[in-house]
Amino acid sequence: MATPLRLSELRCPRCEQPAWVMDNDYRGMDGVMVPYSERDYPCTVCGHRGPGWRLLQQAPPEFLLQPHSLYPMTQSDFDHWIEILKQHFPDHRPPPRPCLPEEAIRELEKYDREGPSAGQFRRTINDLKARFGFGED
Ligand SMILES: [Zn+2]
Repeated sequence: MATPLRLSELRCPRCEQPAWVMDNDYRGMDGVMVPYSERDYPCTVCGHRGPGWRLLQQAPPEFLLQPHSLYPMTQSDFDHWIEILKQHFPDHRPPPRPCLPEEAIRELEKYDREGPSAGQFRRTINDLKARFGFGED
Protein backbone atom coordinates (compact mmCIF):
# COMPACT_ATOMS: atom_id res chain seq x y z
CA MET A 1 0.00 0.00 0.00
CA ALA A 2 1.16 3.53 -0.70
CA THR A 3 2.49 5.51 2.21
CA PRO A 4 0.68 8.75 3.10
CA LEU A 5 1.26 11.94 1.17
CA ARG A 6 4.28 13.82 2.39
CA LEU A 7 5.55 17.34 1.86
CA SER A 8 9.05 17.36 0.47
CA GLU A 9 11.43 20.05 -0.67
CA LEU A 10 13.53 19.13 -3.68
CA ARG A 11 16.24 20.89 -5.62
CA CYS A 12 16.10 21.13 -9.41
CA PRO A 13 19.09 19.42 -11.05
CA ARG A 14 19.33 22.05 -13.75
CA CYS A 15 18.74 25.47 -12.16
CA GLU A 16 19.35 24.43 -8.52
CA GLN A 17 16.15 26.17 -7.38
CA PRO A 18 14.19 24.50 -4.59
CA ALA A 19 10.61 23.35 -5.12
CA TRP A 20 8.01 21.78 -2.86
CA VAL A 21 6.10 18.66 -3.88
CA MET A 22 3.44 16.58 -2.23
CA ASP A 23 4.02 12.93 -2.98
CA ASN A 24 4.11 9.48 -1.39
CA ASP A 25 7.47 8.15 -0.24
CA TYR A 26 6.22 4.84 -1.51
CA ARG A 27 3.66 5.20 -4.25
CA GLY A 28 2.14 1.85 -4.98
CA MET A 29 1.61 -1.81 -4.45
CA ASP A 30 4.46 -3.28 -6.47
CA GLY A 31 7.07 -3.23 -3.71
CA VAL A 32 9.37 -1.03 -5.75
CA MET A 33 10.63 1.99 -3.86
CA VAL A 34 11.45 4.75 -6.33
CA PRO A 35 13.72 7.35 -4.73
CA TYR A 36 12.76 10.97 -5.23
CA SER A 37 15.91 11.48 -7.30
CA GLU A 38 14.60 9.05 -9.92
CA ARG A 39 11.18 10.62 -10.24
CA ASP A 40 10.14 13.07 -12.91
CA TYR A 41 9.08 16.47 -11.64
CA PRO A 42 8.55 19.67 -13.63
CA CYS A 43 10.49 22.77 -12.67
CA THR A 44 8.45 25.96 -12.84
CA VAL A 45 11.62 28.07 -12.87
CA CYS A 46 13.69 26.61 -15.72
CA GLY A 47 11.28 24.21 -17.40
CA HIS A 48 13.31 21.08 -16.66
CA ARG A 49 11.08 18.04 -16.64
CA GLY A 50 12.63 14.82 -15.54
CA PRO A 51 14.63 13.09 -12.82
CA GLY A 52 17.68 14.17 -10.87
CA TRP A 53 15.96 16.15 -8.14
CA ARG A 54 17.73 16.17 -4.79
CA LEU A 55 15.72 15.77 -1.59
CA LEU A 56 16.40 18.69 0.76
CA GLN A 57 13.90 18.23 3.57
CA GLN A 58 10.60 16.55 4.36
CA ALA A 59 7.73 17.14 6.72
CA PRO A 60 7.20 14.31 9.20
CA PRO A 61 5.16 11.54 7.53
CA GLU A 62 2.40 12.01 10.12
CA PHE A 63 1.87 15.70 9.40
CA LEU A 64 -0.90 15.34 6.80
CA LEU A 65 -2.60 12.66 8.94
CA GLN A 66 -3.27 15.00 11.86
CA PRO A 67 -4.96 14.73 14.26
CA HIS A 68 -3.89 11.09 14.79
CA SER A 69 -3.49 9.67 18.28
CA LEU A 70 -0.93 7.07 17.21
CA TYR A 71 1.22 9.73 15.53
CA PRO A 72 1.08 12.91 17.61
CA MET A 73 2.99 16.11 16.89
CA THR A 74 3.90 19.12 18.98
CA GLN A 75 2.04 22.36 18.31
CA SER A 76 5.19 24.18 17.22
CA ASP A 77 6.19 21.44 14.79
CA PHE A 78 2.66 21.41 13.40
CA ASP A 79 2.60 25.22 13.05
CA HIS A 80 5.90 25.17 11.20
CA TRP A 81 4.63 22.73 8.58
CA ILE A 82 1.22 24.38 8.28
CA GLU A 83 2.96 27.59 7.22
CA ILE A 84 4.86 25.75 4.48
CA LEU A 85 1.74 23.93 3.37
CA LYS A 86 -0.31 27.14 3.12
CA GLN A 87 2.46 28.93 1.30
CA HIS A 88 3.15 26.27 -1.32
CA PHE A 89 -0.16 24.41 -1.53
CA PRO A 90 -2.83 27.03 -0.82
CA ASP A 91 -5.54 24.85 -2.37
CA HIS A 92 -4.80 21.82 -0.22
CA ARG A 93 -7.11 21.59 2.76
CA PRO A 94 -4.82 21.76 5.78
CA PRO A 95 -5.10 19.26 8.61
CA PRO A 96 -7.29 20.99 11.24
CA ARG A 97 -5.05 20.57 14.27
CA PRO A 98 -2.33 18.32 15.65
CA CYS A 99 -2.96 15.49 18.05
CA LEU A 100 -0.66 16.71 20.83
CA PRO A 101 1.62 14.18 22.55
CA GLU A 102 -0.08 14.54 25.95
CA GLU A 103 -3.48 14.08 24.31
CA ALA A 104 -2.31 10.97 22.45
CA ILE A 105 -0.81 9.48 25.60
CA ARG A 106 -3.98 10.16 27.60
CA GLU A 107 -6.14 8.60 24.90
CA LEU A 108 -3.94 5.54 24.47
CA GLU A 109 -3.68 5.01 28.24
CA LYS A 110 -7.45 5.08 28.52
CA TYR A 111 -7.79 2.61 25.68
CA ASP A 112 -4.99 0.51 27.14
CA ARG A 113 -6.94 0.21 30.41
CA GLU A 114 -10.46 -0.11 29.05
CA GLY A 115 -10.06 -1.50 25.54
CA PRO A 116 -10.57 -5.14 24.58
CA SER A 117 -6.93 -6.12 24.81
CA ALA A 118 -5.34 -4.64 27.89
CA GLY A 119 -1.71 -3.67 27.62
CA GLN A 120 -1.83 -3.56 23.84
CA PHE A 121 -0.53 -0.01 23.64
CA ARG A 122 1.93 -0.08 26.52
CA ARG A 123 4.96 -0.08 24.25
CA THR A 124 3.57 2.67 22.01
CA ILE A 125 2.79 4.78 25.07
CA ASN A 126 6.31 4.33 26.42
CA ASP A 127 7.80 5.15 23.02
CA LEU A 128 5.76 8.35 22.83
CA LYS A 129 6.70 9.33 26.38
CA ALA A 130 10.38 8.82 25.65
CA ARG A 131 10.23 10.64 22.33
CA PHE A 132 8.41 13.68 23.69
CA GLY A 133 10.26 13.81 26.98
CA PHE A 134 7.51 12.74 29.40
CA GLY A 135 9.62 10.04 31.04
CA GLU A 136 8.57 6.41 31.16
CA ASP A 137 6.46 4.79 33.86
ZN1 LIG B 1 14.87 24.24 -12.63
